[in-house]
Amino acid sequence: MNIKIKKQYPEFTNMVMPLFISVFLFVLPYKTALMAQDFDKLRDEMVEEQLIKRGIKPETVLEAMRTVPRHRFVPENMQNNAYIDSPLPIGLEQTISQPYIVAYMTEQIEAAKGMKVLEIGTGSGYQAAVLSYLGCEVYTIELLEELAVRAEKTLNDLNYKNIKVKCGNGYLGWAEEAPFDAIIVTAAPEKIPEELIEQLKTGGKMILPVGPVNSLQLLKLITKRNRRIIETNLAPVRFVPMVE
Ligand code: SAH
Repeated sequence: MNIKIKKQYPEFTNMVMPLFISVFLFVLPYKTALMAQDFDKLRDEMVEEQLIKRGIKPETVLEAMRTVPRHRFVPENMQNNAYIDSPLPIGLEQTISQPYIVAYMTEQIEAAKGMKVLEIGTGSGYQAAVLSYLGCEVYTIELLEELAVRAEKTLNDLNYKNIKVKCGNGYLGWAEEAPFDAIIVTAAPEKIPEELIEQLKTGGKMILPVGPVNSLQLLKLITKRNRRIIETNLAPVRFVPMVE
C-alpha cells in the first residue's frame, strides 16, 4: 500500500506541476500585462499623435487630455482601446466622442477656469470631466437615465466635484442655471435649438453639430453678440442624433 501511495504522489506532481507552471507562465503575465497596461503612456501618445500634430494648441487643453483617464469612461472590455483615434460605443447605441473632437470642441469654446459651461449629451461623462479639469463649472444634461446615472457615478468615483448631471431633454437647456459662458452640444440636432441660444451669455460661445440623422453634419461655432448671432462653419462631423 505504502509503496503504491509513494508511487502515486510523484506521478501526480509530475502531471500537475507542469500544468501549474504553465498557468503561471502564460496566464499570469497575460493578466499582469493587461492590468499594468500603461494608460499614462497611451494618453501621452494620444496627445502627441492625435492632438498636437493636428493643431490643438492651448497647453491647458493638452494638459487636461493628458490627465483625464479616458479609459475609465468606456466599458471595461473597451479599456484597451480607449486611446485610439476613434469614437467608441458606450452602450444604448451611444458613443464617447473621438479624443480629437473632444479637444477641438473644448479649444473652440475657449474653456477656462471659472467659466460656467452647459453640456448637452453627457454620455460617458468624459467631456464633462475634461471641462471640469480645466476649472469650469459644468452643468450637463443626458436624455437616457441609465447613462446619466452611470456618468455621475464615474465622475464621483474619480472625484470631479464641480459637475452637475441632470437627466432630461437637452432642447430645453437648464433655465434655472442660465446664462452660460459657453454651451457644448455633443449630439446633433437638425437645426440650432433656439432655447440654447437664449441661455447663452452675450459674448458667449456655443459649439454644436447640426444636420440630419445618420448623415454628415456640420460643426458650427455660434458667438452671441448684443443683437446678433455670428455663425461659423468649422468642419464636417458625424455625431449621434439629438433626440427630440
Ligand atoms: N459627451 C459625451 C458623448 C455624447 S454622445 C461623452 O463625452 O461621452 C451623445 C449623447 O447625447 C448620448 O448619450 C445621447 O443619449 C444624448 N442625447 C441625445 N439626445 C439628447 C437630448 N435631446 N437631450 C440630452 N441628451 C441627449
